[in-house]
Parts: sequence; C-alpha cells; structure tokens
Amino acid sequence: MLYPTYSHRGVKDVLILTGGQEEHHYVARALRDLLEEEAGSDVRVEVREVGRGGVDGWLGWITERMGRRGARGEKMQKWIRRAGIGTLGRSAWPQLRRLVALTLEENRPEVVVFFHPAIGLALQERVQDRSEAGFQRVGVVLEAEELPGWDAVTADLLWVADEGAAKELREKNPRVQEVVAGGWPVRPGFVPAEEIKRAGKARPPVKILYLVNSRRRKAHRTLEHLLEMEGVVVTAVVGKEEGLRADLRKAFSGAKERLEVHGWVKDLAAMIRAHDLVMTKPGTISVREILATGRPAILVEGGKGSEKRKEVCRLVIRTGCGALADSPREIAERIKAALEGGGVGLREWGRRARKEAHRSAGAVGRLSDRILQIAKAANSIERVPELRLVPNGHSGRKGLLMVDLHTHSIFSDGRLTLREMVDFYGRRGFDALGVTDHLVDRRRLLGRLANLSGLVLTLEDLPDYFHALAEEKNRAWTRYRMILFPGLEFNHDGLTAKGSAHLLGIDLQSPIDPALSLKEICLQIRGQGGLTIAAHPHHMSSAWGKDTLYLWDRQEEFRPLIDAWEIGNRDDLFNPVGLKRLPFIAGSDFHKPKHLTSWKTLLWCEKDPEAIKECIRKNRDVSITLYRDHRFGGEADAEDRKAAPAAAGGIR
Ligand code: ZN
Ligand code: ZN
Repeated sequence: MLYPTYSHRGVKDVLILTGGQEEHHYVARALRDLLEEEAGSDVRVEVREVGRGGVDGWLGWITERMGRRGARGEKMQKWIRRAGIGTLGRSAWPQLRRLVALTLEENRPEVVVFFHPAIGLALQERVQDRSEAGFQRVGVVLEAEELPGWDAVTADLLWVADEGAAKELREKNPRVQEVVAGGWPVRPGFVPAEEIKRAGKARPPVKILYLVNSRRRKAHRTLEHLLEMEGVVVTAVVGKEEGLRADLRKAFSGAKERLEVHGWVKDLAAMIRAHDLVMTKPGTISVREILATGRPAILVEGGKGSEKRKEVCRLVIRTGCGALADSPREIAERIKAALEGGGVGLREWGRRARKEAHRSAGAVGRLSDRILQIAKAANSIERVPELRLVPNGHSGRKGLLMVDLHTHSIFSDGRLTLREMVDFYGRRGFDALGVTDHLVDRRRLLGRLANLSGLVLTLEDLPDYFHALAEEKNRAWTRYRMILFPGLEFNHDGLTAKGSAHLLGIDLQSPIDPALSLKEICLQIRGQGGLTIAAHPHHMSSAWGKDTLYLWDRQEEFRPLIDAWEIGNRDDLFNPVGLKRLPFIAGSDFHKPKHLTSWKTLLWCEKDPEAIKECIRKNRDVSITLYRDHRFGGEADAEDRKAAPAAAGGIR
C-alpha cells in the first residue's frame, strides 16, 4: 500500500530502527552501506537505536519470553503492550512508543526498516493515527524465536530467512502485504561467492578455528584433545584475554607448528574463511555468519543458557552444518568421527554449510534492492492544504477565535508529539491550543490507572514537559500565529465516580505537585495566572468515559475556585452545566487525530493569552461548536471500542 508521504524534496529517506541487539547493528550497517552505495544522493539512510536505555534489555527479554511461551498474534500484541510494567519495574512500552514517535518526527522517512516485532507495533500505532503522512514498513525477521511475535505486526514487506518461516507468516499474519523468503542478510564481507566455492576444497591438514570463550581449564583440555588428533592444525582466538593468550602459548609451546594463538582478530570473516571448521560457543559470534562463509561449525556448551542459544543450536542441527558437543572429550570425538574415512563427515557438513551460504549470499543485497525500490516508489505529495475556518485575528483587535484547551500529547497517553499537535492544529487555523497531559500522584496510582503507568506524567517528568512546551510555544506563534498554553490535567482518581475528579490547569508557568489537595491545586493554578477548569464534570454518555463527579457533588464548595466547567467534552454534552448557568467551555479531550471531530469553544476577544483567559473567566462572548473537518469524518472505530482503554488511546 502506498501512503502519501511528507516528502516533496526528491530525496527519499530510509530510517533503520534497531533494537539494541547485536544482530540488528550488523544488518543495519550492512544495509546502510549498500543503500548509500547504490542510490548515491537520491536516498538518505539513517540508523537509529530505539532500544537504548531501559528499553534495551526489554526487547531482549520479550524475545526470550516469546520463545518460551509461544504466544501468537493478538495475544502477543496485548502482551507486548503490557509487558515491562511491573515485571521490570518500568514502563517499557510507553518509552518505546515515545522514542519511535520522536525519531519518526525527526526523520520523516519514506521507508522504515525494523528488526523487532515490538518496534513494528509502535510503528503501527503511528500509522493508525497518522495525521498528515505515512511511510512504508519493511520488517526483517532476524531471530527465529521471535517469529510468533511477527504475527501481530503490520508491514508492507516482511523479509525472512527461509521458505518455512515465510509460509508460517503468510498463514498466520493477514496484515502483511508480502512475505519474502530472501535469505539471512549477513554482512557482505562474509559471503564472497568465489570464497564459498573454495570452501569445498579442504586439503589436509584440516584447519580448525577455535574461538575460545570458555574457562581456562576447559580451553586447555579442549586444545589437548584436539592436538592429539593427527592431520589437524588449530588456530585459537582468545579475543581480549591477553592473560589466557600468554598462558596457552606457554602451555603448548611444544606444538608450535600445529597451534597458533591469536588475541583480538579484526577481520574475523577472513579468519573463518581460512579454516575448514569453526568451533565456538553460541553467542560468541553470529552462527548465521559462520554458515554464510560456507564453513561448518561445532557449537560448544550450546544446550545450556538462553533460548536464543538453544535456537542457534537447533539451527546447526536442522541445517546439518555441524554438531553440538559439550565436554572437551565429546568435542574431540565429534571431530574424529567427521574425519573418518578420509573426512566424509566433514565434507558433508561443508556441503550443507555451502548450501546455507549460497542462500545467504547476496541476501543483504537483494534486501537493499527491495528497500530502494520501495523508497523510490513512495508517493510524494504536497503538504496538506491549509484550512482556515477562522480568520487570523490580530492582537489589539477583537476577533472570533476557535480554541481547544483540552488535549493530550505523547507525553501522556495521546498519540501525537507536541510538534505534530502544533502542526495539526496550526494548519487548521486554530487560534489557541491548550495541551493538558495527564498528571498523577505516583503514590496514588491505583486500580485502572496503575496499568497506565508511563502513559501519565508524574512530578518528575514535569521539567521536561514544560521545557518541550516552551519550545513549541514559540514555533506555534511564529509559524501559525497560534497561542500554545502549557497545561495539565490533574487526575485525582478514587475507586468510585464520586471520589474522582479531573481538573485542568491552563497556561501554567511551572510544575505543580499533584499530591496536593484539589483546592490547593486550584489556588496554585490561579497563583500562576492560569485557568481552572472542571473536566467532564457530569455523567458521560459515551461508552468510554469513566465518570468523575467529585467536583460536581461539591459544586458550592468549588464554585469560587473553578473558572469554567466543561459543558462539552469530545462527543459528550453535559446539560446540567448549562441549566445551572455555570461558566462553561468545551474541548475535544484530544488523544488522536480522529478526536478532532468534537466540541470546541469559540471566543470573541483579542488574540492574546490574557484576553483569552479573561474572556473565559468572565464567560461572556463564549459559545461552543461541534467541529468536523474534511479529513477526519469521525467514523466509528470498531477496533477502538473493542480494545482496552490503554491500547485505544486513553483515559479522558
Ligand atoms: Zn479526564
Ligand atoms: Zn483529558
């Protein structure tokens, strides 16, 4: 599917999102190099890590769980969204979706390439709620045990290593346009075609490469066993362990002609290609890459440890490209058996490894060709035409202003970044926008809200939030002549509707502690010159809203502290606010673009922050209007109604 995209520059942007795993980096770099080589200045490639920080470990952790549980599809999707909260003591999913959103905003790519299903879900969220632009998605499946997770991912193209995996995905995932079994995209250095051929002509002595990653004693004993065999020479690579290197050299000084000991090797691919058989612990190097050189492998101590290691072992067994062995004796026995009868076994391993190698050879090239093709085909359109329903007023002169003072950004459970919100409202000619992300007292997080941790602001997040708003405030004015009011929605949620209140503070200058009582919060908001607004103060008729009646039940008490009461909130109207002649306002409680279809406020006043606030306080020359624009018709979203609030975009 081709979505219209941001670009009208001619240059296409490819964004590669990695998730902190080693394999991601290898493949990402290889792809970047090839794409840049092929496309020259027509394509810009950016590699960004979105798994950094806390999320880093989280993606790996999810991968492991996927393997163990074998959960699929929808179940997996829900599970990824919930994962990390509580279990890891942090909210990984909100972090990931925020990071992905910001990275996309910065790069505005035509094509996004990604290697982890959780990143695919974060991208899906962006596409679902895209306001102005889209991008093509290419998922590359690098880990077999992540396969079930990819069921839930929507993409234009999914790239997998082999036909078996491709078949499985085509059956289980109807959301993907195309699944390609294109081979495992290893770094080009590993697979020069002529080298694979040469791998077939092993001549005695048999050259064994031992990538040492074991304890000293085990390495000693393994080498002893290997050197007992005839017709074998060994290269041991110890990496950065200088002590071990010296130690082995000394211990085997009598076998100098048959044993070389190296430290850190820069061109490991070349080193592997100079041997007939590689011995390694899974995880030391990508076994995919060993196989891509056409050399067989013996995996040491593979049965132990993580799912990932076990999967690597299964790969070697399944493809018949080598063997597993645990003790030094076992290793030696396996090799001896392979060398019997003039090395029939070793030749067979080699034949199969070369088969794998041919499959991988050129895979990264083919993948980069496909990405390039997709990037070039990506539609470029002009920016969305501006829709100005309301003439831009000037300071010092009264005008009719359309304002929306109840909106949520990605700082809490909204879908758009602040920048996107400013563009979204600014292009439509709004005169003032209040961003009011949810703020909760961490100590009071209870019940339903606890599931949303990370989707709400807490006191610690406020400095960042205010800083980001201050930056956008300038841009909103210079670019769109739109006033941006920094605000907050104080969520004081009790166990019942009567015990719950949502209070908006508009035009705030600095953080306010959510742990304060509602009265104190009102006083602080006013002390900063801000407006106090009771959000959705009466029974809501929509399926979504959870009633918040605390302020309504204490009307007399709060009347002097509240500047206006929401008479309209998104689709809902609260008649009693009008009947009681309370000062009113209406807002969209915006979480995503389709919420643009909702109640708004029209003011007749000067386009100036103080004038706007004064107009609302006095509550004269105020009216409400139901707004629907030509792009967001507000059709019912069946998926939303089914989904859990957290997944569907928010608490009100
Ligand atoms: Zn609310
Ligand atoms: Zn809200």
